Amino acid sequence: MEQYDVIIIGAGHNGLTAAAYLAKAKKRVLVLERRPIAGGSVVTESFGDGFEADAVWTGGQLRPDIVKDLDLTRFGLDPQPASVKPALISLQPDSNHLILEADPAKAAQSIKRFSGRDASRWNEFVRFMDKAAHILDTAYYTLMPRLPKSLNLREGYGLLELGLELRLAGRKDMLNFIRALPMTAEELLEEYFESDAVRGAVAAVAIHASTLGPMEAGTGYTLIHNWMNRGGLANVNVGRAGEITAALSNAVKSFGGEIRTEAEVANIKIENQIAKGVVLANGEEISAKTILSSADPKHTLLDLVGARELPPEFVWHTQSIKMRGSVAKVHLQTNGAHGIPGGTIVLAPSIKYLERAYDAAKYGEISEKPYLEITTSGNMVSIHFQFAPFSLRNSEWKVEGENIYKLAMATLADYFPNLQSLITNYHVITPQDLEETYGLTEGDLNHGQLMLDQFLFMRPMPGWSNHKTPIDNLYLCGSGVHGGGGVSGAAGRNVVRALT
Ligand SMILES: Cc1cc2nc3c(=O)[nH]c(=O)nc-3n(C[C@H](O)[C@H](O)[C@H](O)COP(=O)(O)OP(=O)(O)OC[C@H]3O[C@@H](n4cnc5c(N)ncnc54)[C@H](O)[C@@H]3O)c2cc1C
Repeated sequence: MEQYDVIIIGAGHNGLTAAAYLAKAKKRVLVLERRPIAGGSVVTESFGDGFEADAVWTGGQLRPDIVKDLDLTRFGLDPQPASVKPALISLQPDSNHLILEADPAKAAQSIKRFSGRDASRWNEFVRFMDKAAHILDTAYYTLMPRLPKSLNLREGYGLLELGLELRLAGRKDMLNFIRALPMTAEELLEEYFESDAVRGAVAAVAIHASTLGPMEAGTGYTLIHNWMNRGGLANVNVGRAGEITAALSNAVKSFGGEIRTEAEVANIKIENQIAKGVVLANGEEISAKTILSSADPKHTLLDLVGARELPPEFVWHTQSIKMRGSVAKVHLQTNGAHGIPGGTIVLAPSIKYLERAYDAAKYGEISEKPYLEITTSGNMVSIHFQFAPFSLRNSEWKVEGENIYKLAMATLADYFPNLQSLITNYHVITPQDLEETYGLTEGDLNHGQLMLDQFLFMRPMPGWSNHKTPIDNLYLCGSGVHGGGGVSGAAGRNVVRALT
């Protein structure tokens, strides 16, 4: 007899979300996590004496329906009050920084210093982006059918609802949304704004966490995706990543589920194309009726299932999933006198600057003039560094970590000249660390690039977007599937609907 109804591989926020829903529905649930702590990319962890930071992730927020369904405020999640929504601050060479407050009227005041025309268009841009984010959120809520197979009733109904949502958006916004997805961020922003400062600041959000420059097709989509996840331009919950996954873990346990850390799954046990359980790295076998994996699709299907169990064409599609991590992180522990304001600070003075930073990644090189995103929490300063490609052409990550620190500090010295002298400790996370420590294949933050050919019914691969796999009773529920990418919990929530 199976010990559990459901085993979930990986205790990232998506695995924990699925676990909480299932445990609440009275299923016997076990979550297995290879690291010593739960949370995946959403963790606050220690790098030494008193040196604690949100290790990898900076923004995003769980969908409100998940917070409500799982009653997460009861389990310790502090809902961010709307009145303290942070700003996006774009550094300018002359210290005339652009401050994009969440309140459009206040943002327009700052934009006016760069262009009166842009200031007058800001309100309309924010309105459209909020609408577009809402439509995308609805698309992420909808279970995608396994095209080109025929639809079942529920899939057909879901698509009808999505169609209705698009129609309710109004003809103009519906068309503009569909049109924006394949556009370059540059083209989209040129339609609204003329100043380099405003275009650069918004384009930074479009390319955040993607290996794309703002002149690449599809960065219209990534702009809407990141806007949706953040609830605007700036990151929320900075310094409090661990609280999200702690609330989810508390919910899982309180509903009767179990979470085991330092429990790496070595392979999924399969008999006659049916998943029967898992084998841990220490040899222990655990059986269950259903296995969910919130690890990325490549790792799950190629390492834990194995190509021998899968149809050749499916293996080829899995191998072809584009995973292209190009982000590194630098955490600085300072003496507290850094004076860097709260909110999300970006070094993205223009679209050209961002595209040049991306040029390096195309050739397997680290950007000499990177796009940086800086957030602070108390005396900690965290720097998101783009672009640092996972596969380096002429070097290796074992030796380049220190270089990332030096490049980040040299770049920031123009804006915060005293910063270097205030640092008491620092910690660099390279794309290789993202793979080895955080389990992200090729350092890809979203378990697969957010691109239009890996979107909707093509995520994680064409024909397999409804969480199912060719192995019966094995489902995917991490960021690499439809609804996933970023911290929203959508993939973990949706898989539960796909099971029933
Ligand atoms: C540097 C960085 C910056 C980011 N910035 C943002 C941002 O600003 N906004 C945003 O919304 N998103 C951001 N993201 C992306 C976001 O954090 C991820 O998409 C999301 O957290 C992934 O959640 P998940 O639960 O799907 O997977 P993960 O968090 O990756 O969790 C998967 C878990 O599975 C475990 N695992 C893997 N293999 C096994 C195995 N064999 N056995 C047991 N356990 C296993 C892993 O250890 C991990 O804990 C960022 C990510 C990174 C790394």
